[in-house]
Amino acid sequence: MASAPRPTKRGSTDPDFFSSARSFPITVGTNVRPGELHGYYVDLSFKAETPSWPPPWLPPRDQQLHVSTAQWGIGAYERYIAGEGEQWLEAARGAADHFVKEQVRDGVRRGAWLHGMPMHHTFLLRPPWISAMAQGEVASLLTRVHKETGDDRYAESALMALEPLRISSLRGGTEALLGGGPFYEEYPTDPPSFVLNGGIYAMWGVYDVSIGLDPDRAGRDWADSLDVLASNIHRWDCGYWSIYDLFPHPVPNVASSAYHLLHTTQLRAMQLIAPRPEFEVTASNFERYSQSRLNEGRAFATKSASRMVVPRNRLLAHRLPWSESRRGQKVKSGRLAHSLVLAYHAVSPHWPSSLAVTPGRLREHLEMLVRYGYVGATFADVIRGDVSAKTVAVTFDDGFQSVIKHAFPVMSELGLPGTIFVPAGLMGLGAPMRWSGIDKWLDTEWENELMPATWDELRQLQDAGWEIASHTWSHARLPQLSDDELATELSRSRDRISQEMGGPCETLAYPYGDYDDRVRELARETGYAGAASMHPGPESPYCWPRIGIYSIDEGVRYRLKASSAVRRLRSSRLGQALEYRRHLPGRHPS
Ligand SMILES: [Zn+2]
Repeated sequence: MASAPRPTKRGSTDPDFFSSARSFPITVGTNVRPGELHGYYVDLSFKAETPSWPPPWLPPRDQQLHVSTAQWGIGAYERYIAGEGEQWLEAARGAADHFVKEQVRDGVRRGAWLHGMPMHHTFLLRPPWISAMAQGEVASLLTRVHKETGDDRYAESALMALEPLRISSLRGGTEALLGGGPFYEEYPTDPPSFVLNGGIYAMWGVYDVSIGLDPDRAGRDWADSLDVLASNIHRWDCGYWSIYDLFPHPVPNVASSAYHLLHTTQLRAMQLIAPRPEFEVTASNFERYSQSRLNEGRAFATKSASRMVVPRNRLLAHRLPWSESRRGQKVKSGRLAHSLVLAYHAVSPHWPSSLAVTPGRLREHLEMLVRYGYVGATFADVIRGDVSAKTVAVTFDDGFQSVIKHAFPVMSELGLPGTIFVPAGLMGLGAPMRWSGIDKWLDTEWENELMPATWDELRQLQDAGWEIASHTWSHARLPQLSDDELATELSRSRDRISQEMGGPCETLAYPYGDYDDRVRELARETGYAGAASMHPGPESPYCWPRIGIYSIDEGVRYRLKASSAVRRLRSSRLGQALEYRRHLPGRHPS
């Protein structure tokens, strides 16, 4: 979906002609279940107006833009799972059948859906051309229809849809290298255009195939593409607005208002299924930019210039000359006030658990934040509001010894303090910790990864400016406890930590991120200044939002098993308490 690049022929046959993103802002999908083929990641239901194939606007074959047709099909599926009736599944199936029939079966373009019209405007593409965005969106449609119908033709076609994504755009595929890694080209151009929204839509197709059909190969593709997107996402951030594409235009191609909003929504959706600090930072930046009318004015001034169009508001354009150096703009500090709380668990070079990130990955995340101007703080600092404009609190749950061995050196080098939430009754026992979710690693070669820190090691962290905080006494699932047991878990851990550390234990993280109103209230009564939850959301002292960071490689495999856990969580009191869909943590065992 592109604002600048359009089919040459426009009019009533173009579905986007009537549904501008301004009048129908695309939001995060309402039925997303991380790790499961269900609701699509952004809500496209408004794209499907009538439940019968073909849609009335479908142009002749050589004029079709496949992303429009795929989005119509996904929108129909979305209406079906929202309970609007079987006819919507039939409509989605009609679109799926169309794509199975139209797919190239042989040759270098095997798996592709070809476009028969040239693309003018920003990018010159001569037919037949293919689009990674179309490949991905059709794969998302086909995997879902396959899941509902069990018809293997859809599965086979979805698997084939990914083939062009693995072939260089210089050789007829849609892959281009960005920062040394593969990125999916909505418009395969030379030099590459790297259209952000299309690349993300393509990635979601890969993700869906990895969940539904091919966890190995598509799972690896998904993990690789996530790494590439995360380590390059800053390139689409010009310091006051998002950028539509990275083609070497004479002037950066700043996104239209609608595409800026879409970028933000897509990154928020990514945080649902594959949380990364890079996405969080960039999404937060984009949201802040949107809040500033001045920035919007600047964006439109630049956008108009890049299109060689006279700005509508000459006076505004005159007052807002853009400059090449847009980073580090002075902005009222209130706008920048933003704290980011990250939740890690173990740090290990080898442990293949979703709870562990490698020291190298941790370093990448934190170096990026430091580059963005984030300043470190403890979780208690954040709760007290004792922070500068842009703050990151790096937290570690569970008290793994690996945090001292592998995280502490990295953080010290970067000058960042940390917060470690420890189940106080298990620290220093010299035996692997155990609770539901980690005990599968007992009696394996990874058993030592479950070793707790010693109190001496924790004092060493404290001396370096870290906060040692509570993760209860025994890593209990708090909402399930009696009042007495709950009081003991909260107060005994707090007392023990205060005693060992020689100072107050100020904050708490709920094991499994699991809490309810009673738990929050008792945490407050026990004397904690605040408590950390395990999901993003509005800031509230006793369920402070955090971004959970897990290992993706394990995550791909874990997600295959996670769907029932996610369903259970959805129906739990906690799940219902999450008033906003993007808060669902998904695949988190601890
Ligand atoms: Zn935990």
